[in-house]
Amino acid sequence: MVGWGWLERPVRKAAGGEELGALLGFLRSQRGLAEELGEWAFYAAVALILLALFKRFPYRYFFKTHRLLAVVYLVLVFHSVVLMNSAYWASPLGVTMAVLLLAGTLAAAISLLRRIGGSRRALGHIEALELHKDNRVLGIDIRLQDRWPGHQAGQFAFVTFDPAEGPHPFTISSAWQGDGHLRFHIKGIGDYTETLPQTLTVGDPVTVEGPYGRFDFADGKPRQIWVAGGIGITPFIAGLQALAEQPDGRSIDLFYSTAAPDQTFIERLQQLAGQARVRLHLLVSGRDERLTGERLREQVPDWRTADVWFCGPAGFGRSLRESLTASGLPAADFHQELFEMR
Ligand SMILES: Cc1cc2nc3c(=O)[nH]c(=O)nc-3n(C[C@H](O)[C@H](O)[C@H](O)COP(=O)(O)OP(=O)(O)OC[C@H]3O[C@@H](n4cnc5c(N)ncnc54)[C@H](O)[C@@H]3O)c2cc1C
Repeated sequence: MVGWGWLERPVRKAAGGEELGALLGFLRSQRGLAEELGEWAFYAAVALILLALFKRFPYRYFFKTHRLLAVVYLVLVFHSVVLMNSAYWASPLGVTMAVLLLAGTLAAAISLLRRIGGSRRALGHIEALELHKDNRVLGIDIRLQDRWPGHQAGQFAFVTFDPAEGPHPFTISSAWQGDGHLRFHIKGIGDYTETLPQTLTVGDPVTVEGPYGRFDFADGKPRQIWVAGGIGITPFIAGLQALAEQPDGRSIDLFYSTAAPDQTFIERLQQLAGQARVRLHLLVSGRDERLTGERLREQVPDWRTADVWFCGPAGFGRSLRESLTASGLPAADFHQELFEMR
């Protein structure tokens, strides 16, 4: 258009050019540092990723070391910006790179400022506690004073009872009724959860962040088989409660395997299953035969039309999935929650 005389050629702004030149000069002067830092950041990233995959590395330390990845990422951004040929920035590749680096930098800043999940956090307090001694499960009722968006039965939340310990993920074992009440059932299986029956008291402040997760029984099939191993019963308790309040016509069999049967806990479960019109099969380890794929197929003859929702120990889930898929259950119809973050 300039050539046709429609537009005047824009006058180059000397000041802008100077600034750009100064910036490019500065970036050039940082090349040595960027190369060195980039190499170390690469080694650090590999080490941190390996650490994340090494499950024996305790979660409480992993939780802290993993955050360092954000710092490493920012160093790698510096490395890329300084070393990338300045002519590339105007190309489609350069623009894509700029967008990705900006988005990554923003995400790293959110992580370092501990803002992840910030908009999903709600404060509350402990309203009631109930310890089931025989299965070492602590029932915790929480009353939220902040807004909670609601949740689907089967979803989980990060719960912080002690800010020094930080958040732990637990399934919300109650269906949402819009009244600010959440229930959790927590089994003492590790250093921290074992101490909860002694350390928590009614009235203690709690922060709950969520809801998260896709283990929500929502895939539309009218026939379902639910299988719980031990504390893996928690998402199903919420599922039963939701169905008891709002039946949806689905036909469901729930298998609950436990090595530590607790009378009160089981009675409540039976009562809830009755209200939800769900057939409960209780299997006590040592007393009853183990639940295998074969046994499940015998107990639920129309299993082929169902989808299976499993929550419990990884080995138990794997053997059931292998047996059922080998007999023709589509892999996508086996859903599982293993209570593992990595
Ligand atoms: C989605 C999900 C839902 C869960 N729901 C329940 C539930 O309803 N009831 C219940 O009793 N347990 C539940 N758990 C398990 C519970 O989070 C762990 O048992 C608990 O965090 C163990 O902490 P600990 O320090 O006592 O045990 P540790 O012996 O330190 O850890 C035991 C296991 O828990 C993991 N873990 C430890 N601390 C954390 C943490 N801060 N965040 C994430 N994982 C951690 C470790 O990697 C390890 O595999 C759930 C886990 C997940 C991932």
